[in-house]
Amino acid sequence: MRAAVLESVPGDLVIDELAIDNPGPREILLRTEACGLCHSDLHVMLGDLPGQVPCVLGHEACGVVEAIGSDVTTHAVGDRVVTCLNTFCSNCRECRSGRSWLCTERRNLNRGPGTAPALTRTSDGARVNQMAGLSAFAEMMLVHEHSAVKVSADVPADKAALLGCAVITGVGSVFNAAKVKAGSTVAVIGAGGIGCNIIQGAKLAGAERVIAVDLHPEKLELAKTFGATDVVNASDGDAVGDVVEMTKGGVDYSFEAIGLAPTVQQAIGMLRVGQTAYMVGVPPVGRGLEIPAGMMVLTGRGVQGVFMGSNHFPTDIPMLANLYLDGRLKLDELVDEQITLDQVNEGYERMKTGTAARSVIMF
Ligand SMILES: [Zn+2]
Ligand SMILES: [Zn+2]
Repeated sequence: MRAAVLESVPGDLVIDELAIDNPGPREILLRTEACGLCHSDLHVMLGDLPGQVPCVLGHEACGVVEAIGSDVTTHAVGDRVVTCLNTFCSNCRECRSGRSWLCTERRNLNRGPGTAPALTRTSDGARVNQMAGLSAFAEMMLVHEHSAVKVSADVPADKAALLGCAVITGVGSVFNAAKVKAGSTVAVIGAGGIGCNIIQGAKLAGAERVIAVDLHPEKLELAKTFGATDVVNASDGDAVGDVVEMTKGGVDYSFEAIGLAPTVQQAIGMLRVGQTAYMVGVPPVGRGLEIPAGMMVLTGRGVQGVFMGSNHFPTDIPMLANLYLDGRLKLDELVDEQITLDQVNEGYERMKTGTAARSVIMF
């Protein structure tokens, strides 16, 4: 099969021929239909997030089950599934206490070092690593059965793919982590793929006011289509002051969807007293954060990291698919362009300019 391989860091992706193994007892083999380009893959390409090269990136995908392992009970050949990187074991303390998105056994479920490789280079037989046990920038995927969930084939492939990362991360942050209440006020910093889904999640939750903050006018326009009631262009001056002024003292919930320390600080600054800022964007590993500690205590404010929207993807993703089919969740507007696997590097170049919503590879 053809796949886009990250050979060195930092580096672009190289299209190569790979062989893919047969499913182990609890694995499923997928024919990839579509995969979105997510910032997290770009972070790995730039060396801001760890990745063991050579590897195949891509994690926001949907596909069709081609074969299943001997012990697989949750999938059948021919199923259309969406993948999610929150592989779960069902047995660790976190899984048993209902926090499967924080499963501590995830790495042991996916094929890591010391196991038979899922992917090998056709030319020399060398091991090629999987990203997050998925590796969706490839025509086929070999994944654990707890890395995918069946979704109606009525959802077009390019939209279905986005459910597995951008949508579940954004909407999940609102529903599962912050539990936004009806009638509340919300600020969202960063109106890209994740941010627009936080915005539409807040709207679905009944927030009265949803304020989008970004530097790019075109992203702020996109934010309005997802339900932002107000927009603030942070390049025009004091975004924190503007939001505090607009809400007469700060918002009930703030979300940072970029992964930068200064914008996390802004998210904290926009809060009403006694409220919490949610960090949804993934900052580069090792980067610190300066927090006004005394102010946090004296004003009862908090800051909380949210991993992948605190999702229970086997139930969340079908729910989101149904909301889309009911016309209540916007996915069409998220897809900026469909591209081929060969255009993956061009897609990431475009992402670096910060203007696009989502580019989706169609197979
Ligand atoms: Zn992602
Ligand atoms: Zn677990």
